[in-house]
Amino acid sequence: MIIKFLGTSAGWPLPRLGCKCTICSSKDPKDTRGRTQILIDGRVLLDAGPETYHHLKNEDIAKLEAILISHEHPDHILGLWDLPHIYGRKETGLNNINLYVTQPVLNGIRKIFQRDFGPIKPIVVSENQTFAIGNAKVTYIPVIHGNTPAYAIKYKETSALRSSTSSAGLKDGKIFTYITDFNRILPSSQTQIRHSHVIALDGSSLGKIGQGPGHISIKDGIIIGKNLKAKEVYFVHIGHKTDTHKRLERYLEEEAGPKFHIAFDGLELKL
Ligand SMILES: [Zn+2]
Ligand SMILES: [Zn+2]
Repeated sequence: MIIKFLGTSAGWPLPRLGCKCTICSSKDPKDTRGRTQILIDGRVLLDAGPETYHHLKNEDIAKLEAILISHEHPDHILGLWDLPHIYGRKETGLNNINLYVTQPVLNGIRKIFQRDFGPIKPIVVSENQTFAIGNAKVTYIPVIHGNTPAYAIKYKETSALRSSTSSAGLKDGKIFTYITDFNRILPSSQTQIRHSHVIALDGSSLGKIGQGPGHISIKDGIIIGKNLKAKEVYFVHIGHKTDTHKRLERYLEEEAGPKFHIAFDGLELKL
């Protein structure tokens, strides 16, 4: 599985135009961030924030099969506007793609876009019910994000068993869980997320400063990541009130150990 972090900022991109803070005046390309978005194996897109169109410019767009959405907030869905003008059209020769969403998220999307997405077909799936996208098993697991229905997205790779002739000849592969915006995970949901190979976690603030009511901080995330027994944790949704990539990495090295990292735009992980 190849996980590519296309965007890693919180609700607004970094640097902020006009701001002179340490992050916004940094020369390190890792401190330039678009809205949080991930591409798995070039074919499954997690979230569709405002930079979606620009993020896809550098990808093989013909490979994209599906879009998954964590929740209805604008920083996770505004890019849906552009996709019906790329997919399922004669000019591009590209196929339709599927938008897998839970009903509450689709209702939220409909509040912003009072229209159909044409070639982007919404397929409503239930929370906690695993469905297949090609060789992957995907589950939307509910998490608490203020009053907004929000989900962790668990993505488990499977592959055919070499010597098996039975119909159940599938071997479980690596598990990646994306939990971008949340302030709490109920114990029943924690059980489903535990022992993922990689978890992407909400890094909207470092501590209490700048922490929104619907979000954890990176400090909280260290405890949560350890509790969820992930092999590796990458923080995404990095907010303006945090620090430079370099300093945040140093902070994690000292406070959390080698399993914890700060993602940056363009980072690719091979599982
Ligand atoms: Zn967000
Ligand atoms: Zn949100």
